[in-house]
Amino acid sequence: MTKVPTTRPTETDNFRISVTEAEQLIAKNLPAAPTATVSLAEANQHILREAISAERDQPPFHRATMDGIAIAASEAQTDETTRFSVAGIQAAGQAAATLPPDCCIEVMTGAVMPSGANTVIPIERIAVTNGIAEIEPGYAFKPGQFVHRRGSDHHQGDPLLSAGIRIGPPEMAVLAAAGKASVQVSVTPKVAVISTGDELVDVGLPISDSQIRSSNDRAIAAALQQAGANDVSRYSYKDDPEQLRNGLRQLLATNDILVLSGGVSMGKYDYLPQVLAELGIRVIFHKITQRPGLPMWFGMSTDNQPVFALPGNPVSALVCLTRYVLPAIQQSLQASSNSTHEQVALAQPLNFDAELSWFVPVTLGYAADGRTLATPRLTNTSGDFCALSGTVGFIELPRETNDFPAGYVARLFRW
Ligand code: AMP
Ligand code: MG
Repeated sequence: MTKVPTTRPTETDNFRISVTEAEQLIAKNLPAAPTATVSLAEANQHILREAISAERDQPPFHRATMDGIAIAASEAQTDETTRFSVAGIQAAGQAAATLPPDCCIEVMTGAVMPSGANTVIPIERIAVTNGIAEIEPGYAFKPGQFVHRRGSDHHQGDPLLSAGIRIGPPEMAVLAAAGKASVQVSVTPKVAVISTGDELVDVGLPISDSQIRSSNDRAIAAALQQAGANDVSRYSYKDDPEQLRNGLRQLLATNDILVLSGGVSMGKYDYLPQVLAELGIRVIFHKITQRPGLPMWFGMSTDNQPVFALPGNPVSALVCLTRYVLPAIQQSLQASSNSTHEQVALAQPLNFDAELSWFVPVTLGYAADGRTLATPRLTNTSGDFCALSGTVGFIELPRETNDFPAGYVARLFRW
């Protein structure tokens, strides 16, 4: 097959931009994900899109926090009575009983305090014989003890959760306590992950000496799923403008986001920028002053769909995905941004002479003073992805600096 080489696009201002500029351009262009109402059972790990306030006071009644007896005690009383006749029992869920004078009522943890009672003596501190409960001699108790007072955590209508929070175990408990059977969440995007390259062969298929296994699509799909984008499908196209054009046109019709890898460098068969332009995808930038991942490309479709084209080298692809695409998806889901970035200190000095931001895969350890130390796992090339296994992610070293001493504090991005 004779292959027709690409025609180079003309360079504009958005060619070879900085990491920060790339991040900002993506943030500026990304549309907000729509919302949907889902049942509480389906809401786990989704981004909440409504504010939640308290259905009732918490606790909704004066709540006994120990199994024992409820009595009426007062601060003024000096010679406390220590013997009470047991007038009844109050189980959790029952309406409040009334405490008769000089009596006690047995209470269970979680029960409403009987009206007239204000103090719980734990079961371990009493002995009950013939309907008389006697407090252990010398046991000093405080009036009001072991009672969780109505509204002491929060009041009805108080704000409990803000929109933008990721629903995890504690948020589930809050939503249930607030009586929410269903909640508004961000709809996670449908993402198409597309490998491009004549040399790529999927697992399970025979492979020749000149071919390589396609691994980017697997790594990218795994990272997207881990980030909560569950609706991911994988595709593989040859370096063939016709096949790319037809395939991508179809994928644009059925997906919210496209994540491509390969075919965006300066090779003669790197057709993607040209094909994407033909499909009406507006290029926002091409190339970032970074290593690895310099050839990264980003554009928007006429229907406002983000298209990320990552360089094919597996380390570059995964670094670019983690540095740009995953945060972009979180932003689009309207996840409240975490302004405190995770930072770690370099375990050993590093030097980097190129005028580029440098992403260095690291493993983590801890210094004696409790600081988290990052040990670089230097990859052979940006194709040496097997060296990434066991690393937690990478640190970002700024392009303005060349020498990074041990102890240098850098931002960490986790895979
Ligand atoms: P490209 O960006 O297309 O020039 O590809 C750069 C390098 O990454 C080449 O060595 C490709 O074979 C390799 N590569 C591209 N796509 C993949 C993939 N899906 N899985 C593994 N390696 C890939
Ligand atoms: Mg290629």
